[in-house]
Amino acid sequence: MRAVVIGGGAAGLVAARRLAIHGDEVVLLEASDRLGGRVSSLGIGGLQVDVGAESFAVRGGTVRTLVDDLGLGDAVREPSGSAWVALEDRTVPLPAGGVLGIPSSPAAADVVRVIDGRGAARAYLDRLLPVLKVGRYERLGPLVRARMGDRVLERLVAPVVENVYGADPDEVPVELIAPGLNAAITAAGSLSGAVLSLRAAAPAGAAAHSLEGGVHRLVDALAARVRSLGADVRTSAGVIGVHPRPEGGGFTVVTEREDVEADRVVLAVDGAAALDLLRDAAPGLAAMARPRPAETRAVVLLVEDARLDGAPRGTGVLRAPGRADVRATALTHLTAKWPWLAERAGARRHLVRLAYRGPDAVPDAVVLADAAALLGIDGLHVAARVDAPWSDSAPALAPETIAIRAALARTALPAGFAVAGSWVAGTGLASVVAGAERAARRAAS
Ligand SMILES: Cc1cc2nc3c(=O)[nH]c(=O)nc-3n(C[C@H](O)[C@H](O)[C@H](O)COP(=O)(O)OP(=O)(O)OC[C@H]3O[C@@H](n4cnc5c(N)ncnc54)[C@H](O)[C@@H]3O)c2cc1C
Repeated sequence: MRAVVIGGGAAGLVAARRLAIHGDEVVLLEASDRLGGRVSSLGIGGLQVDVGAESFAVRGGTVRTLVDDLGLGDAVREPSGSAWVALEDRTVPLPAGGVLGIPSSPAAADVVRVIDGRGAARAYLDRLLPVLKVGRYERLGPLVRARMGDRVLERLVAPVVENVYGADPDEVPVELIAPGLNAAITAAGSLSGAVLSLRAAAPAGAAAHSLEGGVHRLVDALAARVRSLGADVRTSAGVIGVHPRPEGGGFTVVTEREDVEADRVVLAVDGAAALDLLRDAAPGLAAMARPRPAETRAVVLLVEDARLDGAPRGTGVLRAPGRADVRATALTHLTAKWPWLAERAGARRHLVRLAYRGPDAVPDAVVLADAAALLGIDGLHVAARVDAPWSDSAPALAPETIAIRAALARTALPAGFAVAGSWVAGTGLASVVAGAERAARRAAS
């Protein structure tokens, strides 16, 4: 059987590996000239640094199983320290022990430091309000606001949800971003009680790990494995059409250069490209409203400054919506978060990564001012800068993407055809890897 995998990001590489293990003759077609998609690195100061995904969620164990299978288990590393939040008037450590920033103990000292006594008193009402009186909320923002008040939403939850998931808490369905939370509220009788029970059920230790050398090693190892299993991996091979054959099953996959015949197809591209290529297999989706692409930019700075040696803001800072003087939405102090990177960088050399929204270039002066404000240190000496602009054509938690995904689930796709990638499986490597494994199995069934 010949399987064609379209897209050479993490999803496509995982699907290609699974189908090759299954015994298929695999052809992987990637439009750009490199594999990995949104897992990518750039060189700065003699170091190769992740500029897309820089960690993977431990949840579910899916990525760890893959990492072990690829022989990278010994390179897994936990982060050191924790993050801060930049509020309107101060920058303080984010409290430990919540879920998506929702605290389990609203009166704990580290929570009060962020939301003040007034905010804590309001959040404490959550323990007193009957569950039925507040009702069941579909969206995260209204749920948190109703049970714990505005301060918890704006100072704790929004910085996490906007930066980590690229989503607006007022729009995002609770069940998608925090599966099990609504049921846990009913069982525990409060939101804080639900957070406590979800935390108790989660494994101890950091929620996300990385690899010594960078997460990009994962896609390099995947690509090497896929090739060693005999797959034909082609870059600069953008697909422009996928046509189910009218009789007898199978597909013709069309690139600008050639037609490739296939018995199975896994479509593992970003959402907008996928909708174009689903024209024949799922024509009903083409007319649906499309989400607005999420344009972002990662800016990595090499900073030579001993004042950063003590990690003044832990692993980095998330900006709360009320903080108006800073354009960056987050800053990660990479060499504080990953000790192996600090060791490679050498004495007094630091790497910090800032995240920006929008497609535009950000002037040096703005980046420098943001880094200084978020780190609380003026006059940083920046020795080098690299930028990576990103575009996600269908953010997984955008309302339009959710609607398209639901319609796709109701569509009977041709036998041997499956869809993978973050727009269907959810953002982040844990979801993407698990989703690609499912898609490969579905295509092969
Ligand atoms: C800045 C940033 C930071 C992130 N940080 C993290 C993190 O720390 N942890 C985490 O788990 N996740 C993180 N993510 C998310 C994670 O990187 C993605 O969810 C994941 O890499 C998506 O993989 P994918 O294969 O679905 O899509 P992609 O990586 O986008 O791959 C899709 C591939 O399809 C190709 N393609 C498109 N059209 C065609 C076509 N017509 N023909 C052939 N090929 C085509 C593209 O060129 C691309 O290579 C981050 C993302 C970004 C942008």
